[in-house]
Amino acid sequence: MKQYRCNDCGEEQAITPTVWRCACGGVFDLVKDTPKIDVTAWNNYPNTLWRYVETMPFAADSKTWEHVTMGEGQTPLIVLDAEEPNTYVKVDYMMPTLSFKDRGAAVLMTKAKELGVSKVIADSSGNAGTAIAAYAARCNIACDIYLSDDTSLKKIAQVKAHGATIKQIHGTREEIATAAQQAVEEENVFYASHVYNPYFYEGTKTYAYEIYEQLKGAPDTLIIPVGNGTLLLGAYYGFKELLENGLIEKMPKIVAIQAANCAPLVNAYQAGDKSAQAFTNRGTLAEGIAIAAPARSKQILEAVRHTDGTFIEIEENEIVSAREQLSEKGFYVEVTSAVNYAGYLKYEKAPDEKIIIPLCGAGIKSNSHEY
Ligand SMILES: [Zn+2]
Repeated sequence: MKQYRCNDCGEEQAITPTVWRCACGGVFDLVKDTPKIDVTAWNNYPNTLWRYVETMPFAADSKTWEHVTMGEGQTPLIVLDAEEPNTYVKVDYMMPTLSFKDRGAAVLMTKAKELGVSKVIADSSGNAGTAIAAYAARCNIACDIYLSDDTSLKKIAQVKAHGATIKQIHGTREEIATAAQQAVEEENVFYASHVYNPYFYEGTKTYAYEIYEQLKGAPDTLIIPVGNGTLLLGAYYGFKELLENGLIEKMPKIVAIQAANCAPLVNAYQAGDKSAQAFTNRGTLAEGIAIAAPARSKQILEAVRHTDGTFIEIEENEIVSAREQLSEKGFYVEVTSAVNYAGYLKYEKAPDEKIIIPLCGAGIKSNSHEY
């Protein structure tokens, strides 16, 4: 059965442990019908993101996830401030490895285990690496994580603790990805990429399902930080599935946030382009979304436009100030996550507009010199 389809040329391929990109260079999507959502089945599962396993492309009798899960998902949705009762934060740093990346890593590593792989390689600015390393350990799968040599020491310690081998590279985020991809080809192993492997998005889509359950419907607007688009695309796919099943009446608007110092998608959106041109990263505190050439830019731009959303760019001083303001409300987040709140503060909202802001990563994962 052919289950990958290239987003550029349409070529279809079977899912194997080693194929990760189309021969033309394009990214793969999954070939699948919209899942039929049976809301009544959800209570047959533990109160984790695996409540929605029947909407994921696994065999109906597959129980692999039961040996992989660490209870990820079902994170709290909290009113941010009593004075703004329609603005919620989704506290996605309350996850096993303290970031939202566990949504995708749990599902992707379940697929890797199902495929019988013995080793995975991933590259990351930090959080995806810690999540993949943790779930690889859980699956008894060997794991190499490619990271920048200036990655937060806390994240490096976390990856090491899970027994993964760290490959530190001196270079840009793109050079680190290239090094990982070369190793994947040379060693002929599974590329556990949160960018390229579409199973990752089957995990991040549960962000939408949870919000739907918590609000008993869809919000008006999602504020979402975007680098490679792992949360943005997952949320988009999740709400699209809910819409196509008639469970919600309209798509929430996606307001995508980038740091002005690394904003290839903002540029493309403003220019009316279908995909992003490579951008020179001028350096930003928001290391988690500092992606100069996002591989799924075409899909990200389509998703934002399809929901009548928009892009907002954030200056460095606004990031610092937003992080302080969130801390004063009780939420201690990673520097990158503060970009989301900064985006919310800049967004011109309508009266009574129901808005969700994700708190993606825990503040304790940042280096101490980062404020
Ligand atoms: Zn192709």
